[in-house]
Amino acid sequence: MAAEQGFGIFKGVEYCTNKPIILKTNNGRIVKKLDGTGNNSDNLPWIAPGLVDLQINGYSGIDFNTLPLSFESVHKATEILWKEGVTQYIPTVITNSPERIETILEIISKAIESDESRHTIAGIHLEGPFLSPEDGPRGAHDAAYIRPPEWEMFVKWQKAARGHIRILTLSPEWQNSPNFIKKCVESGVKVSIGHTAANSEQISLAVKAGASLSTHLGNGAHAKLPRHPNYIWDQLADDRLWAGMIGDGFHLPASVLKVIRKVKESHTILVSDSVNLAGLSPGVYHTHVGGKVVLTPEGKLHLAESPDLLAGSVKSLRKGIENLINMGVCSFQEAWEMSSLHPSTFLGLQTKDGLKVGSPADFVLFNRNKNEIQVIQTIKNGEIVFNGLKVEKN
Ligand SMILES: [Zn+2]
Repeated sequence: MAAEQGFGIFKGVEYCTNKPIILKTNNGRIVKKLDGTGNNSDNLPWIAPGLVDLQINGYSGIDFNTLPLSFESVHKATEILWKEGVTQYIPTVITNSPERIETILEIISKAIESDESRHTIAGIHLEGPFLSPEDGPRGAHDAAYIRPPEWEMFVKWQKAARGHIRILTLSPEWQNSPNFIKKCVESGVKVSIGHTAANSEQISLAVKAGASLSTHLGNGAHAKLPRHPNYIWDQLADDRLWAGMIGDGFHLPASVLKVIRKVKESHTILVSDSVNLAGLSPGVYHTHVGGKVVLTPEGKLHLAESPDLLAGSVKSLRKGIENLINMGVCSFQEAWEMSSLHPSTFLGLQTKDGLKVGSPADFVLFNRNKNEIQVIQTIKNGEIVFNGLKVEKN
C-alpha cells in the first residue's frame, strides 16, 4: 500500500491513450511514468486523473448548508466522495442569513485545514447571496436573504473562511457589480455569473471587471426568455467565460449540453451541484429548502407537488460522466477531462497536468462495464484513500 511519504506503484490503462502505463509515486507525487504491458482484457483497470467537483452542496445525507454542521460530517462527506473517484472538491455555501453563512464558512474552513481532509477540499464556493431576486433566476435560493453585493460583508466572510473562498457566484444585475467583481478578483477569488437576470451590457461589464465563469449555465434561469438577446447567448458567446454545467441528465437536455461543450471546448466544466440527498435510496424526503421532495429510481429529485420542478441534483460527477456518454454529448476522454483537468486548470490547481511526472499523485483506478464506471481505488497524494477491493463492513 502506498502512503503519502512512501513509494507506490500503480498499473493501469491510461484513459486518454488506451495504453498500459505504470505510475510510480513518492512523497505524494508522480515520480515516474513508464510504459506497461497488457490491456483491459488482461484485467488491467483504467487509470485517470482524480475528479474535481467545483460545485457540491452536500452528499449522502450530509448538507453543507444546514446547521448544526459538524467538522466530522464534512469529513464523512469527503470519505464518501473518495468512493466516487473525487480527489478534490469545493463545497458550495448558498444564500442564507449573514450569521449562518459565517458559521458554515468557519466550520468548513476548519475541515479544509484538518489532516483528515488530505487536502481534498480545495476551497469554498460561495453561491449567493448577491443573486437575482427574480423568481426563476433565483432558483431555490431564499428570497429573504438575497441582497446587493457588499464588499465589507464579503471581507468578513472571507475572514471567517480563513481565506478559503475561491469562487463567488453572483448576478451582475446589481448596479455596483463591476466594482465589487474587480475587488474580488484582485483578492484572488474567481467570480462566476449565475442565478442572473442581467442584460447584455451588465454581463459584458462583469466580464470586463474580471468574471471568468458561468455557474451551471442554462439553469437558474427564467422558464421563458426573449429569443435574443438573452443572458444565455451572451455568456455562451463570450470566450473569456468558462462554463459550468450540470450533467445529471435532468437539468439540461443533451442538445444544450452538446452546444455548451462545442462552444466552450476546453473551457467546459462538469459539476455535480449535488444536494444532500445524493447517494441515498429513492423515496420521499423532507428538505429545508424544497419541503416535501421525491427522489425517483432514475435519480430525478423533484418537488412532491410539482414533478416538473427539480429540487436539485443527486448525481455525483462519476454519474455525470456516464450520462454525457450515454446521451452522446462527447467522448469518454472529454467527459472525464471536463470533470478533472478542466476544473483544475480553471482554478490553477497543481493537478492541472493530470498524470504527468511531477504532478500530485491524485488519480483513480476503475473498471468500465459498458458505460458504467466502477471505482476500484482512489489515490490522493499517493495514498490509497478508497480501496473498493476491500469488503465494506456496512
Ligand atoms: Zn445554483
